[in-house]
Amino acid sequence: MKYESDIEKMEVALEQAKLAYENDEIPVGAALFNENDELVVSDHNRRELDQDPTSHAEILVLKAASKTYKSWRLEGSTLVVTLEPDPMCAGAIVNARVKRLIFLMRVLSFFLKNIFQHLQIHLQLLHLYH
Ligand SMILES: [Zn+2]
Repeated sequence: MKYESDIEKMEVALEQAKLAYENDEIPVGAALFNENDELVVSDHNRRELDQDPTSHAEILVLKAASKTYKSWRLEGSTLVVTLEPDPMCAGAIVNARVKRLIFLMRVLSFFLKNIFQHLQIHLQLLHLYH
């Protein structure tokens, strides 16, 4: 299945963020797509579940994709994240040579109330400006 638009891609990450929320994790979701716009892997923040400070959605997705490709070089891929990556994940994204990064909201917006209401607003904005 192809996810041709950024919005379709973001909806996959958003579903993952909802799963994280349902599991009492900080609701962040990520998804990685190959150069043909096919979904390679998606995951969400699992810091509480794993009791691991590095179990951010982006790191988990990069690790799983590297396993799939048997390569740490994820050239040509697009990473979609619901939240602006923090410094740890930004470093990993650069190191993995991800071609494109799309994120839905900046960190400051994230800490406002009604997180999913804000995510929906941002998704609508993405629709508007796409
Ligand atoms: Zn992170």
